[in-house]
Amino acid sequence: MAGPIGGGCHLPQAGVLRGDITMVIAARDIHGPAREAPTMRAAVFHGPGDIRVEDVPRPRPGPGEALIRVTLTTICGTDVHILKGEYPVEPGLIVGHEPVGVIEELGPGVVGYEVGERVLVGAITPCGQCHACLSGKLSQCGHGSGYEAIGGWRFGNTLNGAQAEYLLVPSAQANLAKIPEALTDEQVVLLADIASTGFSGAESGKVRIGDSVVVFAQGPIGLCATAGAKLLGAATVMGVERDPNRQAMARQMGADIVLDPAKDDVVAEVKRITSGGADVAIEALGLQETFESALRSIRPGGTLSSLGVYSGKLQMPYDAFAAGLGDHTIVTTLCPGGKERMERLMKMVAAGRFDPTPLITHRFSLEEIGEAYRVFSNRLDGVLKVAIRP
Ligand SMILES: [Zn+2]
Ligand SMILES: [Zn+2]
Repeated sequence: MAGPIGGGCHLPQAGVLRGDITMVIAARDIHGPAREAPTMRAAVFHGPGDIRVEDVPRPRPGPGEALIRVTLTTICGTDVHILKGEYPVEPGLIVGHEPVGVIEELGPGVVGYEVGERVLVGAITPCGQCHACLSGKLSQCGHGSGYEAIGGWRFGNTLNGAQAEYLLVPSAQANLAKIPEALTDEQVVLLADIASTGFSGAESGKVRIGDSVVVFAQGPIGLCATAGAKLLGAATVMGVERDPNRQAMARQMGADIVLDPAKDDVVAEVKRITSGGADVAIEALGLQETFESALRSIRPGGTLSSLGVYSGKLQMPYDAFAAGLGDHTIVTTLCPGGKERMERLMKMVAAGRFDPTPLITHRFSLEEIGEAYRVFSNRLDGVLKVAIRP
């Protein structure tokens, strides 16, 4: 919601930009010293089952940071885990990690950008300078020090997130990806997380031209994994899904064959279709059942590329991986972030190779985000992804 609350007063900013101290003093004279600090509307996590849209202080960027005015964001399955209390974050945190916006203010040291430019920021915001980042493990960024598991995921996890009118972007130099003029906000918003993660399932699985690939679950990430396998040159892409709407979308995203675990013996079917097992199986759900089926679906020497988020104990029956002698590869991937990744993904959309917009099935304002969470978390009305417009 743009409006008088979020609009704020730009005079102190103008004073800073022009180095004009007298102008700042003049502004104080006009408004009086007791003038309230600017606020913004934001979806704030207060505890399990309790996310509220309320007024919070609007941040200012420090060195290396940028403030963006969010023009579009979305809700991720991870946000639903947070809402349900299944993934712990501090009460008072603004949730969301998929921002599209316009640069509102740049902190000292951020160069090559201008206020007013449209930018996409990945869900994962690597610092670009720590040991993990410089080793190419951007998602495990330790923010200037060493490694930290999942450390690259900061928005709506350890820092305030994107379901707000404004968002402070850390390590802005490494994370602001300028959006080509020809692309709309809806064309790029799902690249921040869903498409980056889904594609990475196929990339980490090292899908080759002519491969057979089976993707377990066709939710938003699985659908993008299906599209990613097709883009990398798989000859046969099989999507595994029960939901009829998602089965149809799987075909639209590039699945040649859709298998329904409610009707088909999926592992047997994959082995039959591929004469022995898929080259790559991508797990995009995070359950013991799908992990095990994915493992059983690959051929000796095949790869299980896991995107799911698991809980409890994950077990591998010895027969499912040839007692450790089958030359299987199991690889996991957290969403790749950083501006270079976002730029690559936007090029794919601009070139017409990938269109994420069919995945956006519902649209809400920030004020309606409670309803958006209800629809999304209960999978009502055939929802795949919701677009949230502050
Ligand atoms: Zn996410
Ligand atoms: Zn780093």
